[in-house]
Amino acid sequence: MSLPPLVEPATELTVDEVRRYSRHLIIPDVGMAGQKRLKNAKVLCVGAGGLGSPALLYLAAAGVGTLGIIDFDVVDESNLQRQVIHGQSDVGRLKAESAAASVREINPLVEVVIHNATLTTENVMEIFSAYDLIVDGTDNFATRYMVNDAAVLLGKPYVWGSIYRFDGQASVFWAEHGPCYRCLYPEPPPPGMVPSCAEGGVLGVLCASIGSIQVNEAIKLLTGIGDPLVGRLMIYDALEMKYRDVKVRKDPECVLCGKNPTVTELLEDYEAFCGAISDEAAQAASGSTITAQELKSMMDKGDNIYVVDVREINEYEIVSIPGATLIPKGEFLNGSALEKLPQDRRIVLHCKSGARSAEALAIVKNAGFSDAVHVGGGVLSWVKTVDPSLPSY
Ligand code: ZN
Repeated sequence: MSLPPLVEPATELTVDEVRRYSRHLIIPDVGMAGQKRLKNAKVLCVGAGGLGSPALLYLAAAGVGTLGIIDFDVVDESNLQRQVIHGQSDVGRLKAESAAASVREINPLVEVVIHNATLTTENVMEIFSAYDLIVDGTDNFATRYMVNDAAVLLGKPYVWGSIYRFDGQASVFWAEHGPCYRCLYPEPPPPGMVPSCAEGGVLGVLCASIGSIQVNEAIKLLTGIGDPLVGRLMIYDALEMKYRDVKVRKDPECVLCGKNPTVTELLEDYEAFCGAISDEAAQAASGSTITAQELKSMMDKGDNIYVVDVREINEYEIVSIPGATLIPKGEFLNGSALEKLPQDRRIVLHCKSGARSAEALAIVKNAGFSDAVHVGGGVLSWVKTVDPSLPSY
Protein backbone atom coordinates (compact mmCIF):
# COMPACT_ATOMS: atom_id res chain seq x y z
CA MET A 1 0.00 0.00 0.00
CA SER A 2 1.36 3.42 -0.89
CA LEU A 3 -0.18 6.64 0.38
CA PRO A 4 -0.04 10.21 -0.89
CA PRO A 5 2.45 12.53 0.83
CA LEU A 6 1.18 14.02 4.05
CA VAL A 7 2.78 17.43 3.49
CA GLU A 8 2.98 19.88 0.60
CA PRO A 9 6.51 20.88 -0.40
CA ALA A 10 8.03 24.15 0.79
CA THR A 11 8.64 26.61 -2.02
CA GLU A 12 12.40 26.30 -1.97
CA LEU A 13 15.53 25.08 -0.22
CA THR A 14 18.27 27.56 0.61
CA VAL A 15 21.86 26.97 -0.47
CA ASP A 16 22.69 25.94 3.11
CA GLU A 17 19.87 23.45 3.10
CA VAL A 18 20.94 21.97 -0.24
CA ARG A 19 24.45 21.45 1.15
CA ARG A 20 23.20 19.98 4.41
CA TYR A 21 20.70 17.57 2.88
CA SER A 22 22.66 16.59 -0.24
CA ARG A 23 22.75 12.89 0.72
CA HIS A 24 18.96 12.93 0.78
CA LEU A 25 18.64 14.99 -2.38
CA ILE A 26 20.57 12.49 -4.50
CA ILE A 27 18.24 9.65 -3.50
CA PRO A 28 15.78 9.65 -6.41
CA ASP A 29 12.78 8.72 -4.19
CA VAL A 30 13.42 11.65 -1.87
CA GLY A 31 14.99 14.27 -4.09
CA MET A 32 14.27 17.97 -3.96
CA ALA A 33 10.51 17.45 -3.67
CA GLY A 34 10.82 15.09 -0.72
CA GLN A 35 13.24 17.33 1.16
CA LYS A 36 10.95 20.32 0.61
CA ARG A 37 8.11 18.32 2.11
CA LEU A 38 10.25 17.54 5.17
CA LYS A 39 11.04 21.24 5.47
CA ASN A 40 7.34 22.03 5.53
CA ALA A 41 6.50 19.22 7.96
CA LYS A 42 5.40 19.67 11.56
CA VAL A 43 6.04 16.62 13.71
CA LEU A 44 5.29 16.23 17.41
CA CYS A 45 7.23 13.80 19.57
CA VAL A 46 5.28 12.69 22.62
CA GLY A 47 7.96 12.05 25.21
CA ALA A 48 11.68 12.84 25.08
CA GLY A 49 12.63 9.54 26.69
CA GLY A 50 13.82 6.19 25.38
CA LEU A 51 12.04 6.33 22.02
CA GLY A 52 11.78 10.10 21.78
CA SER A 53 15.56 10.50 22.09
CA PRO A 54 16.62 8.72 18.89
CA ALA A 55 13.44 9.84 17.13
CA LEU A 56 14.10 13.51 17.81
CA LEU A 57 17.78 13.26 16.91
CA TYR A 58 17.06 11.74 13.50
CA LEU A 59 13.97 13.82 12.74
CA ALA A 60 16.10 16.89 13.41
CA ALA A 61 19.01 15.68 11.31
CA ALA A 62 16.63 14.75 8.48
CA GLY A 63 15.44 18.34 8.23
CA VAL A 64 11.89 18.16 9.54
CA GLY A 65 11.03 21.87 9.60
CA THR A 66 9.11 22.04 12.87
CA LEU A 67 9.67 19.64 15.73
CA GLY A 68 7.42 19.71 18.79
CA ILE A 69 8.59 18.10 22.01
CA ILE A 70 6.19 17.37 24.83
CA ASP A 71 7.54 16.07 28.12
CA PHE A 72 6.92 17.13 31.73
CA ASP A 73 9.73 15.12 33.29
CA VAL A 74 13.29 16.01 34.29
CA VAL A 75 16.41 14.11 33.27
CA ASP A 76 17.41 11.48 35.82
CA GLU A 77 20.71 9.65 35.99
CA SER A 78 18.93 6.36 35.27
CA ASN A 79 17.74 7.80 31.93
CA LEU A 80 21.21 8.20 30.48
CA GLN A 81 21.63 4.47 29.72
CA ARG A 82 19.26 4.86 26.77
CA GLN A 83 17.97 8.44 26.41
CA VAL A 84 20.91 9.57 24.32
CA ILE A 85 19.51 13.01 23.52
CA HIS A 86 20.39 13.97 27.12
CA GLY A 87 23.87 14.08 28.64
CA GLN A 88 25.46 14.07 32.09
CA SER A 89 25.21 17.84 32.45
CA ASP A 90 21.46 17.66 31.73
CA VAL A 91 20.65 15.67 34.88
CA GLY A 92 17.98 17.59 36.75
CA ARG A 93 17.04 19.66 33.70
CA LEU A 94 13.60 19.52 32.07
CA LYS A 95 13.70 16.85 29.37
CA ALA A 96 11.90 19.02 26.82
CA GLU A 97 14.49 21.79 27.32
CA SER A 98 17.43 19.41 27.22
CA ALA A 99 16.12 17.66 24.09
CA ALA A 100 15.46 21.00 22.39
CA ALA A 101 19.07 22.06 23.01
CA SER A 102 20.36 18.86 21.39
CA VAL A 103 18.03 19.30 18.42
CA ARG A 104 19.29 22.87 17.89
CA GLU A 105 22.88 21.67 18.09
CA ILE A 106 22.28 18.99 15.47
CA ASN A 107 20.28 21.19 13.13
CA PRO A 108 19.78 24.91 13.80
CA LEU A 109 17.45 25.08 10.79
CA VAL A 110 14.78 23.18 12.72
CA GLU A 111 12.17 25.21 14.53
CA VAL A 112 11.70 23.64 17.93
CA VAL A 113 8.46 23.99 19.87
CA ILE A 114 8.73 23.08 23.53
CA HIS A 115 5.67 21.85 25.39
CA ASN A 116 6.75 21.68 29.02
CA ALA A 117 3.59 19.94 30.06
CA THR A 118 1.89 16.69 30.82
CA LEU A 119 -0.28 15.63 27.93
CA THR A 120 -3.85 15.67 29.27
CA THR A 121 -7.38 15.43 27.95
CA GLU A 122 -7.47 19.21 28.40
CA ASN A 123 -4.57 20.03 26.07
CA VAL A 124 -4.06 17.04 23.76
CA MET A 125 -6.49 18.09 21.00
CA GLU A 126 -5.14 21.61 20.80
CA ILE A 127 -1.51 20.51 20.82
CA PHE A 128 -1.98 17.72 18.27
CA SER A 129 -3.95 19.92 15.89
CA ALA A 130 -0.85 22.05 15.21
CA TYR A 131 1.06 19.08 13.76
CA ASP A 132 0.92 16.90 10.64
CA LEU A 133 2.15 13.77 12.34
CA ILE A 134 2.65 12.46 15.87
CA VAL A 135 5.45 10.17 17.01
CA ASP A 136 4.34 8.37 20.14
CA GLY A 137 7.12 7.38 22.50
CA THR A 138 5.05 7.09 25.67
CA ASP A 139 5.56 4.25 28.09
CA ASN A 140 2.17 3.95 29.76
CA PHE A 141 -1.19 2.68 28.61
CA ALA A 142 -3.26 5.65 29.75
CA THR A 143 -1.29 8.07 27.55
CA ARG A 144 -1.19 5.59 24.67
CA TYR A 145 -4.96 5.30 24.53
CA MET A 146 -5.31 9.05 24.84
CA VAL A 147 -2.81 9.65 22.00
CA ASN A 148 -4.68 7.15 19.84
CA ASP A 149 -8.09 8.58 20.55
CA ALA A 150 -6.98 12.17 19.94
CA ALA A 151 -5.22 11.22 16.68
CA VAL A 152 -8.27 9.33 15.40
CA LEU A 153 -10.66 12.11 16.37
CA LEU A 154 -8.44 14.65 14.60
CA GLY A 155 -7.92 12.39 11.58
CA LYS A 156 -4.15 12.42 12.06
CA PRO A 157 -1.68 9.59 11.54
CA TYR A 158 0.77 8.62 14.25
CA VAL A 159 3.74 6.36 14.52
CA TRP A 160 3.63 4.16 17.58
CA GLY A 161 6.45 2.24 19.24
CA SER A 162 6.92 0.24 22.39
CA ILE A 163 9.87 -1.41 24.06
CA TYR A 164 10.49 -3.88 26.88
CA ARG A 165 13.73 -5.66 27.74
CA PHE A 166 14.77 -7.12 24.33
CA ASP A 167 11.43 -6.80 22.56
CA GLY A 168 10.11 -3.95 20.50
CA GLN A 169 7.02 -3.22 18.45
CA ALA A 170 6.11 -0.47 16.03
CA SER A 171 3.22 0.43 13.78
CA VAL A 172 1.52 3.33 12.05
CA PHE A 173 -2.03 4.00 13.14
CA TRP A 174 -4.12 6.07 10.75
CA ALA A 175 -7.83 5.38 10.96
CA GLU A 176 -8.56 6.85 7.52
CA HIS A 177 -6.34 4.27 5.87
CA GLY A 178 -6.13 1.41 8.33
CA PRO A 179 -6.61 0.27 11.91
CA CYS A 180 -6.12 2.30 15.07
CA TYR A 181 -4.46 1.19 18.32
CA ARG A 182 -7.84 0.16 19.70
CA CYS A 183 -8.37 -2.15 16.69
CA LEU A 184 -5.18 -3.95 17.76
CA TYR A 185 -5.67 -3.62 21.53
CA PRO A 186 -9.39 -3.02 22.20
CA GLU A 187 -8.84 -3.08 25.96
CA PRO A 188 -5.95 -2.12 28.16
CA PRO A 189 -4.25 -5.05 29.88
CA PRO A 190 -5.45 -5.82 33.39
CA PRO A 191 -3.63 -3.63 35.92
CA GLY A 192 -0.33 -5.15 36.96
CA MET A 193 -0.25 -7.67 34.08
CA VAL A 194 2.17 -5.82 31.82
CA PRO A 195 5.26 -4.54 33.61
CA SER A 196 6.69 -1.20 32.54
CA CYS A 197 10.32 -0.65 31.60
CA ALA A 198 10.78 0.95 35.02
CA GLU A 199 9.74 -2.38 36.57
CA GLY A 200 11.17 -4.82 34.04
CA GLY A 201 14.06 -2.99 32.44
CA VAL A 202 14.97 -2.31 28.83
CA LEU A 203 18.13 -2.80 26.81
CA GLY A 204 19.22 0.74 26.01
CA VAL A 205 20.04 0.16 22.37
CA LEU A 206 16.58 -1.31 21.76
CA CYS A 207 15.32 2.29 21.89
CA ALA A 208 17.45 3.11 18.85
CA SER A 209 16.13 0.10 16.91
CA ILE A 210 12.50 1.01 17.47
CA GLY A 211 12.95 4.79 17.48
CA SER A 212 14.67 4.64 14.10
CA ILE A 213 11.81 2.55 12.68
CA GLN A 214 9.47 5.28 13.88
CA VAL A 215 11.50 8.00 12.16
CA ASN A 216 11.76 5.89 9.02
CA GLU A 217 7.96 5.59 8.92
CA ALA A 218 7.51 9.28 9.68
CA ILE A 219 9.72 10.27 6.74
CA LYS A 220 7.88 7.86 4.43
CA LEU A 221 4.49 9.27 5.46
CA LEU A 222 5.57 12.89 5.17
CA THR A 223 7.08 12.42 1.73
CA GLY A 224 4.70 9.76 0.43
CA ILE A 225 7.31 7.15 -0.41
CA GLY A 226 7.48 3.41 0.14
CA ASP A 227 5.11 1.05 1.86
CA PRO A 228 4.15 2.48 5.27
CA LEU A 229 3.51 0.36 8.37
CA VAL A 230 -0.21 1.09 8.14
CA GLY A 231 -2.13 -2.10 8.95
CA ARG A 232 1.04 -3.92 9.94
CA LEU A 233 2.64 -4.50 13.32
CA MET A 234 6.42 -4.77 13.28
CA ILE A 235 7.76 -7.06 15.99
CA TYR A 236 11.46 -7.07 16.79
CA ASP A 237 13.30 -9.58 18.95
CA ALA A 238 16.79 -8.29 19.67
CA LEU A 239 18.00 -11.55 21.26
CA GLU A 240 16.99 -13.68 18.28
CA MET A 241 17.76 -10.76 15.96
CA LYS A 242 14.50 -11.25 14.10
CA TYR A 243 12.03 -8.81 12.66
CA ARG A 244 8.63 -9.99 11.62
CA ASP A 245 5.48 -8.16 10.70
CA VAL A 246 1.91 -9.25 11.20
CA LYS A 247 -1.16 -7.89 9.49
CA VAL A 248 -3.46 -5.79 11.65
CA ARG A 249 -6.93 -5.36 10.26
CA LYS A 250 -9.25 -2.51 10.89
CA ASP A 251 -11.87 -3.82 13.28
CA PRO A 252 -15.36 -2.97 11.97
CA GLU A 253 -16.53 -3.23 15.59
CA CYS A 254 -13.85 -0.83 16.89
CA VAL A 255 -15.53 1.52 19.38
CA LEU A 256 -13.50 4.41 17.99
CA CYS A 257 -12.89 3.89 14.27
CA GLY A 258 -15.40 1.12 13.44
CA LYS A 259 -18.73 1.34 11.65
CA ASN A 260 -20.75 2.42 14.66
CA PRO A 261 -18.35 4.18 16.99
CA THR A 262 -19.46 4.64 20.58
CA VAL A 263 -16.38 6.65 21.56
CA THR A 264 -16.86 9.95 19.75
CA GLU A 265 -14.88 12.19 22.05
CA LEU A 266 -11.98 11.80 24.45
CA LEU A 267 -12.62 9.74 27.57
CA GLU A 268 -12.86 11.73 30.76
CA ASP A 269 -10.19 9.79 32.62
CA TYR A 270 -7.64 7.57 30.86
CA GLU A 271 -5.94 6.63 34.14
CA ALA A 272 -9.21 5.18 35.35
CA PHE A 273 -9.77 3.48 31.97
CA CYS A 274 -6.43 1.73 32.30
CA GLY A 275 -6.78 1.28 36.06
CA ALA A 276 -3.45 2.12 37.67
CA ILE A 277 -4.15 -0.65 40.16
CA SER A 278 -7.00 -3.13 40.31
CA ASP A 279 -10.07 -2.51 42.43
CA GLU A 280 -9.10 -5.32 44.81
CA ALA A 281 -5.62 -3.87 45.26
CA ALA A 282 -6.97 -0.37 45.83
CA GLN A 283 -9.45 -1.72 48.36
CA ALA A 284 -6.78 -3.70 50.21
CA ALA A 285 -4.43 -0.71 50.29
CA SER A 286 -7.06 1.69 51.58
CA GLY A 287 -6.37 2.19 55.28
CA SER A 288 -3.50 -0.31 55.15
CA THR A 289 -0.80 1.82 53.61
CA ILE A 290 2.16 3.11 55.62
CA THR A 291 4.91 5.49 54.59
CA ALA A 292 8.56 4.53 54.32
CA GLN A 293 9.27 6.74 57.35
CA GLU A 294 6.59 4.93 59.35
CA LEU A 295 8.24 1.64 58.45
CA LYS A 296 11.57 3.01 59.61
CA SER A 297 10.18 4.02 62.99
CA MET A 298 8.46 0.61 63.36
CA MET A 299 11.88 -0.96 62.78
CA ASP A 300 13.59 1.40 65.21
CA LYS A 301 11.02 0.64 67.92
CA GLY A 302 11.61 -3.08 67.38
CA ASP A 303 8.00 -3.79 66.35
CA ASN A 304 7.23 -7.42 65.64
CA ILE A 305 7.04 -7.05 61.86
CA TYR A 306 8.04 -9.14 58.86
CA VAL A 307 9.03 -7.03 55.86
CA VAL A 308 8.52 -8.66 52.47
CA ASP A 309 9.90 -7.28 49.21
CA VAL A 310 7.67 -8.50 46.36
CA ARG A 311 9.94 -7.31 43.53
CA GLU A 312 12.22 -9.47 41.37
CA ILE A 313 15.70 -10.62 42.39
CA ASN A 314 17.46 -8.22 39.97
CA GLU A 315 15.70 -5.27 41.53
CA TYR A 316 16.44 -6.54 45.05
CA GLU A 317 20.14 -6.65 44.20
CA ILE A 318 20.10 -3.03 43.02
CA VAL A 319 18.64 -1.66 46.22
CA SER A 320 16.64 -3.10 49.08
CA ILE A 321 15.25 -2.14 52.44
CA PRO A 322 17.47 -3.60 55.19
CA GLY A 323 15.97 -6.75 56.69
CA ALA A 324 13.38 -7.28 53.96
CA THR A 325 12.80 -10.82 52.70
CA LEU A 326 12.45 -11.22 48.96
CA ILE A 327 9.32 -13.08 47.81
CA PRO A 328 8.48 -12.01 44.22
CA LYS A 329 4.88 -11.11 43.39
CA GLY A 330 4.48 -14.18 41.20
CA GLU A 331 4.66 -16.37 44.32
CA PHE A 332 1.71 -14.50 45.78
CA LEU A 333 -0.25 -14.96 42.56
CA ASN A 334 0.37 -18.74 42.54
CA GLY A 335 -0.17 -19.01 46.29
CA SER A 336 3.24 -20.42 47.20
CA ALA A 337 4.25 -17.28 49.09
CA LEU A 338 1.66 -17.69 51.82
CA GLU A 339 3.32 -20.62 53.60
CA LYS A 340 6.52 -18.59 53.86
CA LEU A 341 4.82 -15.87 55.91
CA PRO A 342 5.06 -16.08 59.71
CA GLN A 343 1.66 -16.19 61.46
CA ASP A 344 2.87 -14.36 64.58
CA ARG A 345 4.30 -11.23 63.00
CA ARG A 346 2.73 -8.30 61.25
CA ILE A 347 3.35 -8.51 57.49
CA VAL A 348 4.68 -5.37 55.77
CA LEU A 349 4.87 -5.61 51.99
CA HIS A 350 6.74 -3.32 49.63
CA CYS A 351 7.80 -3.14 45.99
CA LYS A 352 9.37 -0.43 43.84
CA SER A 353 6.61 2.16 43.93
CA GLY A 354 3.61 0.55 45.65
CA ALA A 355 1.54 -0.96 42.81
CA ARG A 356 2.74 -4.55 42.99
CA SER A 357 2.75 -4.60 46.79
CA ALA A 358 -0.88 -3.42 46.80
CA GLU A 359 -1.79 -6.39 44.62
CA ALA A 360 0.08 -8.79 46.90
CA LEU A 361 -1.56 -7.13 49.91
CA ALA A 362 -5.01 -8.04 48.58
CA ILE A 363 -3.95 -11.70 48.40
CA VAL A 364 -2.33 -11.66 51.83
CA LYS A 365 -5.37 -10.07 53.46
CA ASN A 366 -7.67 -12.57 51.78
CA ALA A 367 -5.53 -15.32 53.28
CA GLY A 368 -6.30 -14.00 56.77
CA PHE A 369 -3.38 -11.68 57.53
CA SER A 370 -5.82 -8.93 58.41
CA ASP A 371 -3.30 -6.49 59.94
CA ALA A 372 -0.92 -6.65 56.95
CA VAL A 373 0.09 -3.34 55.38
CA HIS A 374 2.12 -2.16 52.42
CA VAL A 375 4.52 0.73 51.95
CA GLY A 376 3.16 3.52 49.74
CA GLY A 377 5.79 4.61 47.24
CA GLY A 378 7.82 1.46 47.88
CA VAL A 379 11.58 1.32 48.00
CA LEU A 380 11.78 4.52 45.93
CA SER A 381 10.13 6.36 48.77
CA TRP A 382 12.48 4.67 51.24
CA VAL A 383 15.49 5.95 49.29
CA LYS A 384 13.99 9.41 49.02
CA THR A 385 12.79 9.91 52.59
CA VAL A 386 14.78 7.51 54.77
CA ASP A 387 18.17 6.80 53.22
CA PRO A 388 19.12 9.00 50.25
CA SER A 389 22.58 7.39 50.18
CA LEU A 390 21.02 4.32 48.54
CA PRO A 391 20.75 4.15 44.73
CA SER A 392 17.43 4.76 42.98
CA TYR A 393 16.49 3.04 39.72
ZN1 ZN B 1 -9.94 1.30 15.59
